[in-house]
Amino acid sequence: MRWGEKRYNSLNYFLRKKFGEKVYKVSLDGGFTCPNRDGTLSKKGCIFCSESGSGEFAGSRKKSITDQIEEQLELISKKFPHGNVIAYFQNFTSTYGDLEYLKKKYEEALSHPRVVGLAIATRPDCIDDSILDLLEELNNKTFLWIELGLQTTDEKTAVEINRGWKLQVFDDMIEKLNNKNIKVVAHIILGLPNESPKTMLTSIKYIVNKKVWGVKFHLLHIIQNTNLEKLYIETNFHILTKEEYIDLIGKSIKILDKDMVIHRLTGDGSRETLIEPRWSLDKRNVLNSIEKHLKENNILQGDKYEKIT
Ligand code: SF4
Repeated sequence: MRWGEKRYNSLNYFLRKKFGEKVYKVSLDGGFTCPNRDGTLSKKGCIFCSESGSGEFAGSRKKSITDQIEEQLELISKKFPHGNVIAYFQNFTSTYGDLEYLKKKYEEALSHPRVVGLAIATRPDCIDDSILDLLEELNNKTFLWIELGLQTTDEKTAVEINRGWKLQVFDDMIEKLNNKNIKVVAHIILGLPNESPKTMLTSIKYIVNKKVWGVKFHLLHIIQNTNLEKLYIETNFHILTKEEYIDLIGKSIKILDKDMVIHRLTGDGSRETLIEPRWSLDKRNVLNSIEKHLKENNILQGDKYEKIT
């Protein structure tokens, strides 16, 4: 198989090949907020966003970046006592801040002896030219990728989920980042209210066309105390079944470019706060079922890669 024992180009495979050994990610909270929550654009946030800014497993913002890294390394120390890690700024909008503040946070992470790269999750409307220059600088000295929460290309859904920016904003930012050879990971959510499989696959085709480096697939999670929970109670919109989700993942993998890196095939839900889909809590089972589905249907990443014009 082209990607070790997998039928797709997993992040794990990619990092092993790049660094010659296993590399973990440590999730950090840089103390940022988000224009979609602090009132600049809105106070409501994206409809699915949890209190922690969609970063349930990151470190605590009350601690320094160094302390968060140490704490996370301690948590994985049994299975991973010596190896290197990517510092992942996960919560909220991790480029939303003063340039000097951003620099300080990223540099602190990079100064840790076991950090060999940076991953920064943000919004495409929160990278101005000075931040872009900073990212270019970082890209020249370390292994960097930027994560953008696209979620969907459907403008109607984007309004319904209160994403707060139009697709053109993503188009422009991806072009700028591509021009600077900065790797981009797009987040896509499968199962957004009222989206058909066709709409979801259109989003996948779009990121293939835009030459993003990587993709994170999320199954829509309805989390307690979010606006999405309210909408679900009011409208009882369709929740993807496990079979529907697996089928969509298979179809998506087929149309990806062979070189795209798959960072995630499903999300991590918290047992305490996840309302639906509860079937997703057995993550091992979901991942095994995806592998089985790919094998049984002889699906390989890029089987049906085509540039859509
Ligand atoms: S952009 Fe991210 S942090 Fe901001 S509201 Fe949306 S999901 Fe939450």
